[in-house]
Amino acid sequence: MDYFDQFSFLKPLLSYRRIIERKRHHFCDYFEFSNSALYEDCFQWTTKNAALHEGIVSLPFFLYFFNKKENDAFAYQFEQMNIIGISTGFFENLLARCDEKGPEMERVALLQGINIRNLANQSAAEFIFIVARHFVYFHEFAHLIQQDDIVNGELPKADQYCSQEEKLTQDHVKERDADIFGANLTMSQIQLMFKSYHPQYQTAQTLEQLVVLSQVALYLVFDILSDGLKKPIYYEETDHPHHVIRINLLQKMMSSKANNMDGVGALNIFNILPRTLAILSALNEKSLNRFVHNMNTYGGQIDEYEKKYKEEIEQHKWTAGAKMEIWHNSKFR
Ligand SMILES: [Zn+2]
Repeated sequence: MDYFDQFSFLKPLLSYRRIIERKRHHFCDYFEFSNSALYEDCFQWTTKNAALHEGIVSLPFFLYFFNKKENDAFAYQFEQMNIIGISTGFFENLLARCDEKGPEMERVALLQGINIRNLANQSAAEFIFIVARHFVYFHEFAHLIQQDDIVNGELPKADQYCSQEEKLTQDHVKERDADIFGANLTMSQIQLMFKSYHPQYQTAQTLEQLVVLSQVALYLVFDILSDGLKKPIYYEETDHPHHVIRINLLQKMMSSKANNMDGVGALNIFNILPRTLAILSALNEKSLNRFVHNMNTYGGQIDEYEKKYKEEIEQHKWTAGAKMEIWHNSKFR
């Protein structure tokens, strides 16, 4: 049976009316928005993706856009379905930044020998937008998986049974896990794009270009969410890790994941990092200066934080990463 047949009552919502007003019950038509083709594209992609991940959560899951201008993305259960929510403001801000900074990023990318128009008839900004969108979606998808026990019966400890300190640690495990999961699945999508290119372009040099642009994309997500990384560094004072710490993790993950891709030789880190930095300075130079300053000043403490959470994540079976591994093995082996 088709994945969606069981939920035929949702079909009217699936084909249109996928933007929800803040009062959850009011759905409005996304084609009223000027970027309706991009919303449409996003829905089509997530529908296909949801079918591929059938069985990893117990209820069907769908993407909705929530009509509000603040940057926001979240995941929760609502009326027997899982909702991944992205605010229209966040989506539009991602788009606007790609539009506004696109030509300059493109110019710098070309100077760096990055030209993905050759590969997929796509501009650098279009690629960056798609990767950013994938990552936000997969990060929220991870939160749905964390809160669902269908795969291995494991759930995080309920907040009311945690001490304040335990809760903070657990919140950070959730966010780190969701970022790692998001980066892993985003990299799988990039791998698919790579494999769709003409064989003559399926080289380490091409993959290096894609890694550079995907690092820019993930930076863009956090640059928007943090309004240019202005907050001084902090560690476990709030329930989300500092954006600088999150970017640092994701930059490393994108290159190391690509490095392990089948059939492509080892990537040269020196072909990646300087080019990422060059494009980021075209994206937002002030923010990049803050990022570099924080990394130079607090690198040691950030390493400590990372080490602690690497160990923490390995201790739990409720993480999206742990559940994905079990689900994947049961499906593909
Ligand atoms: Zn999160």
